[in-house]
This record gives sequence, structure tokens and C-alpha cells, in this order.
Amino acid sequence: MYDPLITPNAASQPLANSYWASTQALPPRLPHLSGHQQTDVAIIGGGYTGLLTAYYLASKYHIDCHVLEANQVGFGASARNAGFVLKGSGRLGYAAMAKRWDLATTKAIYGEFSQAVERVESLIHKYNIECDPQEKGYLKVAHNPKALQQLKTAADFIQQHLIPSPLDSKSPSSAGSANMDQHAQFINAADFRRDYLNHHQAYGALRLSDGFGVNPLKLLLGYKSMVEHQDVTLSESSCVLDWIEENGKHRLFTEHGELSANKVIVAANGYTPKAFNHRIDEKFLPILSNIIVTEPLSADELQAAGLFSHQVTMDTRILKYYFRLLPDNRLLFGGRGAVWGKDAADPIYGQRLKLAMNKCFPALATKKVAYNWTGWIAASMDDMPHVVEKNGVGYSLGYCGAGVSFSAQAAFRLAQSIAGETPTEIANLPLYQNPLPRLPFAKARRIGQWGYYHYGWLKDRFG
Ligand SMILES: Cc1cc2nc3c(=O)[nH]c(=O)nc-3n(C[C@H](O)[C@H](O)[C@H](O)COP(=O)(O)OP(=O)(O)OC[C@H]3O[C@@H](n4cnc5c(N)ncnc54)[C@H](O)[C@@H]3O)c2cc1C
Repeated sequence: MYDPLITPNAASQPLANSYWASTQALPPRLPHLSGHQQTDVAIIGGGYTGLLTAYYLASKYHIDCHVLEANQVGFGASARNAGFVLKGSGRLGYAAMAKRWDLATTKAIYGEFSQAVERVESLIHKYNIECDPQEKGYLKVAHNPKALQQLKTAADFIQQHLIPSPLDSKSPSSAGSANMDQHAQFINAADFRRDYLNHHQAYGALRLSDGFGVNPLKLLLGYKSMVEHQDVTLSESSCVLDWIEENGKHRLFTEHGELSANKVIVAANGYTPKAFNHRIDEKFLPILSNIIVTEPLSADELQAAGLFSHQVTMDTRILKYYFRLLPDNRLLFGGRGAVWGKDAADPIYGQRLKLAMNKCFPALATKKVAYNWTGWIAASMDDMPHVVEKNGVGYSLGYCGAGVSFSAQAAFRLAQSIAGETPTEIANLPLYQNPLPRLPFAKARRIGQWGYYHYGWLKDRFG
């Protein structure tokens, strides 16, 4: 398996054998970059971030751009994620943000995360992207009494400080509960088990009203088609192997060609190779996330397992589990994978997820796993994404496993920044102003990750 800290080139790697790939065939590969070409803005990476940056540059600002994708659109995390469209990115809670900065900054960041979800929804509607959106609701499940208390505090914080006012707020879509119009709704364990999921390790849950699930590959192909309709050049099999900066201009070299550009956006996320550009090298940690998907569940099996909701769900562990019932009633269940890419295909990681699934829903113990795959997410040192463009070089990195919605907002802001149209109050937000901080002891980051997994395991079990 491609490991960005080991292998410099993702070009020849096979696509993930995911459940999503079974629902949608990929179009044939587009031609690679050849010869010497020029563009105003070169975009490295053909996932959500790269494609939507190209879309906004071309459609809103009429700026010439060219996307270089190492493998094929559909290779990176964007085609193999769990498809949770969530308000938020990174691992930093809103109360922690208010402590780190102030309430006004936290509100503005909340506004960016809210717009991200709205942006994805509006693109789906505008371009009629058939990506199987599911019922609204993001359930955060407390895995112990302490986490339950923290969820209650988080719900109060959101409700008191971040939601404008019930009269101003929009009504989310209808499904399930009488309290759907609440943005952050606390659900006790008994109600949760009766109305949502009979999760045997749940102590209660916080329900945020605007998350939902999609088929991530269909969403990505929808974005690809939007970009193609803007006449943007998209070169696949075009891994950037070398990057030379000369007098403020850029020369990007691939196996078969060279692209000269005035500006460059790096949108390669957790798939960014190790020694790529000094602006991002040693500033992110690629982490493997692993997903399993069961065979479809019959109506009786759903009832026996207590799976009454298709809302996207995540627990409060340090080493989180995330799950959702898919449109064809398979259960998708995800969590951490191997530390090193060479171990990614070891069946032990899928088996561990299956055991965890069985503990949550014991009636599924005999249910078979039909799909098992992994992919890279990118974590940052300060648990938040950084979307920065300065002097013609930009990047968006550090979604920490939550980039399906925020990549759309990041792409919009990157395009705005390239066009010189970022509003000052937005440019000053830490998300957009602060460059990625360097990881301490970056060379040993995998050892640190291994240690953290052991700490997390102990804390989740006994903490
Ligand atoms: C298993 C898993 C589950 C996840 N679940 C969720 C979820 O439910 N909700 C959520 O919000 N987020 C989730 N995420 C995270 C989410 O998928 C990512 O944050 C998002 O897809 C990032 O998009 P991107 O365009 O920035 O990067 P990617 O989609 O990773 O695209 C980067 C692209 O850059 C290309 N590239 C790399 N190097 C080069 C180079 N040198 N030259 C040219 N191209 C290059 C790669 O081939 C790749 O296609 C998950 C991720 C994984 C792996």
C-alpha cells in the first residue's frame, strides 16, 4: 500500500477495493501531462479540495488552471471515506477554540464549518449530483459517563454561544424525531437505544442536526464533471515528482511533462509525499483509517440489532469508531488502521473493527464483512486544518479525518485568496492565517503515533 512517508509516488498504486467502487464504475483515465505546458494556477491533487479549487477559480474568477493528479481522480481519500458530511473539521472542540482564541473567533470558525455543509448541499442540488444523500443528523455517542458529561457541556456551549437564535435559525430537514429543529440536542441512553441505535456501549448521545451521509465516490465524480464543464485541464497519471521555484514562478515536473505556473495550490492531503515542499514538509502526519462494510441486513436483522436510524454516528473515544447504515442496509464501521502502510492490508485491523462492531451491536456477531479497505487522513499538530495561500503558493492540509464538507469551503477560500478577494475578517481567522505548525521530532512521528495509540487504548478502556 502507498505510504506517503516511504513511497514518493502514488502513480502505479491500485485503487481501493471499497464498497463505493462496487456502486459506481470509474471512467477511463484521462491523458497524462505531456511536453511543456503553461497555466496560471497549477493544482496538485485531484480529490475534493483540488477539484473544487479548480471549479471556483474557473467558474467564479475565470482564472486559467490545470489539475495534476498522480493516479486517477478517485484514488485518494475522497473516494474511499465514510461519506459523513459534518459541520466541523479537525479534532478541536468549540469550547477549546474559545479558550485558545476567543468567542468571536470561535463563532466565525463555526460559521465557516456551517457554510461548508451548506456549500456541499447546494453543489449537490445545483448540479444534481446523485450521491445518495441520507437522512439528516450526526450522532455523537458517549462511550462512558465522563464523556456523557462532556457531551452535555458541548451541547450547552453550542446552544448558548454559537447558535444565532431559534427564531433566526433555519429548520433542518424532517426525519425521525420531534426535536429535529434543535441544532444540538442531547439524547439520554434509553431514548437513544429505543429511537436511534440499540448500541450496547452508549451512555447517551449528542445529535447535531445538519450532518448527513453520502456516497463519497459519486460526490467526487460529480465534482469532476463540474470541473470538466468549466474546460479546466485535468491530467491524470501525472504525479508531480519535482518542483522548482525560479523568480516567483514555478516549474512542476511529472514523468512525461513539465507544467509552468504563476501560482501553485497543493491539494494532496494525507497522500502528499514526504519531502515535497518546505512549506508543508514535516508538518503533517498521514494516518490510516480503516473501514469495514457488512453484507446487507434484512428487516429482521435490523430489528434484532437495534439499527433504527441511517444518521451518521461517531463515538467519543480517543481512538474513535464511526458508523452508519448505508442505503442498502449494510453497516459501515470504521476506526483506526495500521501505523505503517506496509501493514495496511493485514486482516487483523478489519478483524479488530468487526470485534468492536460486535460489542456495540451483539446481534451482528454472525454477520459477514463484505468489504474492508483503508485510506490516509492528514493530522496536524494543533488538531485543525490550515488553508493558507501566500505569495502564490497555497495548501489545504490537516482536516484530521473530517474533510468531506470542509474541503469545499477550503477550496472556495483558496480560490478567493488567489483572486485577491478574501474578506479581511476571514483572512484573519487562524484557519486561514496561520501556517501549519511543524511537528516536533517529525522524523519519529510514526513512533509517536504508535505510542499515542497505546495511550488512547488505555484511556478509552479505563479513563
Ligand atoms: C477511511 C477514511 C474515512 C474518512 N471518512 C470521512 C468522513 O466520513 N467524513 C469526512 O469529513 N472526512 C472523512 N475522511 C477524510 C476525507 O476523506 C478527506 O479529508 C478528504 O477526502 C480530503 O480530500 P482532498 O481532496 O484534500 O485529498 P484526497 O482526496 O486525499 O486527494 C489527494 C490527491 O492528491 C494526489 N496526489 C498526491 N501526491 C501527488 C503528487 N505528487 N502529484 C499529483 N497528485 C498527487 C493523490 O493521488 C490524491 O488523489 C476519511 C478519510 C479516510 C481515509
